[in-house]
Amino acid sequence: MIKAIRGMRDILPPETNRWQWVEAAAREVFELYGYREVRLPLIERTELFARSIGAETDIVAKEMYTFPDRHGDSLTLRPEATASVLRAVLEHGLDKGAGVKKYYTLGPMFRYERPQKGRYRQFYQINCEAYGVDAPELDAEVILLLLDILNRLQLGELRLLVNSLGCRDCQAHFKAALKNFLADKDGLCEDCRRRREANPLRVFDCKSPHCQAILADAPVLKDYLDEACAAHFARVLELLARHGVAYTEQPRLVRGLDYYTRTAFEVVAAGLGAQDAVAGGGRYNGLSRELGGPELPAIGFAIGEDRLLEVLPAALGQGQEFKVFLAALGEAARDRAFSLLQELRGQGLAAEMDFEGRSLKAQMSLADRLGAAYVVILGDRELETGVANLRPMRDFAYIQGEGVRLTEVAGGRMAVQQEEVPLDKLPEVLAQRLLGR
Ligand code: AMP
Repeated sequence: MIKAIRGMRDILPPETNRWQWVEAAAREVFELYGYREVRLPLIERTELFARSIGAETDIVAKEMYTFPDRHGDSLTLRPEATASVLRAVLEHGLDKGAGVKKYYTLGPMFRYERPQKGRYRQFYQINCEAYGVDAPELDAEVILLLLDILNRLQLGELRLLVNSLGCRDCQAHFKAALKNFLADKDGLCEDCRRRREANPLRVFDCKSPHCQAILADAPVLKDYLDEACAAHFARVLELLARHGVAYTEQPRLVRGLDYYTRTAFEVVAAGLGAQDAVAGGGRYNGLSRELGGPELPAIGFAIGEDRLLEVLPAALGQGQEFKVFLAALGEAARDRAFSLLQELRGQGLAAEMDFEGRSLKAQMSLADRLGAAYVVILGDRELETGVANLRPMRDFAYIQGEGVRLTEVAGGRMAVQQEEVPLDKLPEVLAQRLLGR
């Protein structure tokens, strides 16, 4: 049998209910903040990522799915969305005009990383990107938006880490100082020795305890921020504090990609182990120029959906379906049930029946397995009298404004009673019982 590729996985029901629920919540919050969706190709020219993410990053150096197409052009499965969204924004002139230009997108990313818990080769992100404004208010707003999404999902213990990477000038000063500091340090790992030359900021991403120990005394970016960058960062923090956001300043947070400037942030969750970042983002004012576009301030974040789902409380987003099962006995009853099924669905009720002529007992157990709230038994007698029995399979209660919620049956006793209903009134009565209308 052919199996899925290593590091890639199938996301199946009922888990998909939870994914849909998360995405619906994110969309709702995005709309509140004035963001609109873009849907972009999964494949771009390799050059787009090489130029934006940076040739010295792990992503570009060893993690991209890159291949020549049939004409020999080098193409890459997108490893992240920021470069693609900016490409589209510039290509379609969406950066023009006053105010903040706000876009979001959802979808899969691809990185050839070593698979482990919380790390996949195809993984999903919820991305937010905002353009055109450098004001710290936007940074604070973007972080508040991210937290709004995460809070709606009732995630447990989350920590917001923030840092400022300064502008390109601050970074140049800092890199020089860091290079200096690293120059005579023996025992750095091979990766860090390479980074020391090519892109010293990235040594902070190293997971080796030995390198981390060496870095304990390294200079920190905060001390190299110029006045404007320091004031910008202070204002972001002030706005966060004013809105009751608990944050931790993390002077060594540099994020994996080259293009970040000024505000950088990450949200980490307890209970995720080594791969504990649920979301990350920051400002990337220089990227537009890097891609041949105009000067364009920009900021965004990516939520790692796979990881978010791992910390989402188990009870959330299961999707409650209040199915009606039509148990039909005999050909005539099955024929009537088939039409009834469509009428019920027309009323917005999830309904099922059996097409294989099973026994009543088998149909009842199928109804139970499908989680039916009601079974309606249809046989010759019901067709004759035109009246059927509504049989509640589970106890349920009306919650004002929410339709119906199933609750466990205490001691097997049903609070909701069986009732007789004329067949032609069934859709109406069931809609009333199950949808509260
Ligand atoms: P990045 O684009 O690297 O800043 O990642 C943003 C978020 O995407 C991270 O915080 C993770 O939650 C998630 N993420 C990144 N890489 C992976 C991966 N290989 N597997 C699953 N989630 C990932």
